[in-house]
Amino acid sequence: MSNIYSLFHERTKSGTDFILDAGGDTVATYMDLETRSARYANRLAGLGLVKGDRVMVQVEKSVESLFLYFACLRAGLIYLPLNTAYQRSELEYFIDNSSPMLIVCAPNSEMLFTSICGAAANIKKFDIQTLDGDGEGSINNNLGHEVDTFTDQPCDKRDIAAILYTSGTTGQPKGAMISHGNLEANATTLHKTWGFTPGDLLLHALPIFHVHGLFVATHLAVLNASPIIFLPKFDAMEITRLLPDASVYMGVPTNYTRLLANPEFGTDTCRNIRLFTAGSAPLLPHTFDEFRRRTGHTIVERYGMTETGMNTSNPLEGVKKAGTVGLPLKGVSCKIIDSAGKTLGANETGTLLVKGPNVFSGYWQLPEKTREEFTDDGYFRTGDLACRDEEGYISIVGRGKDLIITGGFNVYPREVEKVIDKMHGVDESAIIGLPHGDYGEAVTAIVVRSEGSDIDEPTIIQHLKSTLANFKVAKQVLFVDTLPRNTMGKVQKNVLREQFGQ
Ligand code: AMP
Repeated sequence: MSNIYSLFHERTKSGTDFILDAGGDTVATYMDLETRSARYANRLAGLGLVKGDRVMVQVEKSVESLFLYFACLRAGLIYLPLNTAYQRSELEYFIDNSSPMLIVCAPNSEMLFTSICGAAANIKKFDIQTLDGDGEGSINNNLGHEVDTFTDQPCDKRDIAAILYTSGTTGQPKGAMISHGNLEANATTLHKTWGFTPGDLLLHALPIFHVHGLFVATHLAVLNASPIIFLPKFDAMEITRLLPDASVYMGVPTNYTRLLANPEFGTDTCRNIRLFTAGSAPLLPHTFDEFRRRTGHTIVERYGMTETGMNTSNPLEGVKKAGTVGLPLKGVSCKIIDSAGKTLGANETGTLLVKGPNVFSGYWQLPEKTREEFTDDGYFRTGDLACRDEEGYISIVGRGKDLIITGGFNVYPREVEKVIDKMHGVDESAIIGLPHGDYGEAVTAIVVRSEGSDIDEPTIIQHLKSTLANFKVAKQVLFVDTLPRNTMGKVQKNVLREQFGQ
């Protein structure tokens, strides 16, 4: 294998539909993917970019931005997508850290980027181009004059295809270097694992600045030469309307809870679907159960992260277990260890390590940090706490940094959250540790009540006492209307700790 694009290249010859709009009309064919990405690749080469240069992209989701992404792959450039929510101070950091040779931004951020780059020595002004949500912008000026063929840059498996800054909720973001080989390994494995077949049609409503929407969803559809109904964002009504046309839907857990909240969503909506997947955050067991009850479909939960792509999945055929992220994918090795580095057995909780061709090579310009995150035998420390049952199914218990140590005992938030989430009158919960004079940290439950529920603190505490060891019982229960989440649906526990830590 060379350039990952060579995997997709064969597919583009078919000339079948690539992108469909919400009305079912063809926006682009696979032939367009080939020719339009070639035009962009020629444009980038014309701007003087050479293999290994970083192209930073902070734009709204559009078909043109997808073509730009494929153009970067073809030209051997390093694609560096940024969440559209990032603000000035964060952008300053990313620019300083990655030294992009080109920035493509929304027209209304051009001034901002110009002013940041004015102060940064490594960016020249002419290297800022624009692209809006309708696919219009300076990067497209006279694009039709560019040649519509391109000789793809030969790449080694280890050559970096993309840098994605981890969406870590604390600490300085780190740029994960993802290679052509990592992308190839994950795309081909998932394609088999999830049984992609001719005729599949993907409904795509995820952002494309993240692993989930860009690498998992888009790559799998392209590898399958499948049409994609490409939506700018998730909207429960719109998804309910369009699902009958699709056979595959990939979402974050909040997508599923919102679909279930729509009374029009049900069995008939899902009549043509063969695969629902969920990931990026834990899928609550009651969402898993309720979804099965309402639609007859079982969501396939999988687990991955920016640094590794996907690591595990519940099986397509065979038992899908609620509250677990399934089994390691073919070629991926998962190990759970204790603080002394000893490999743990079934039902013991420890740190999850992963190794495989999907695992990134390190953090951009952070060799020390990279060394710390890999073990001597080449495993990556995910930072997630996990345990494995007798059949090998893995459950993610929480992030290591969210572990609560109270009176010298370890409390894994997920274990307590699961008990509260099952209670009648509770929608969802988050368990955090707050500073406590006596215990060091006090287990604290932040709870969202279901509509119309008046469940109170003593009821929850009483239930916890009757279910869990005493040290795991919340010392305090606080009620909120919603839990703060980032764009990938992850609960931001740092925000809760700040809000309630006073
Ligand atoms: P990111 O790098 O933004 O994709 O975040 C990766 C993190 O999301 C992982 O390290 C996990 O903590 C979490 N995560 C991803 N998928 C799942 C899942 N299915 N269940 C629980 N946590 C998940």
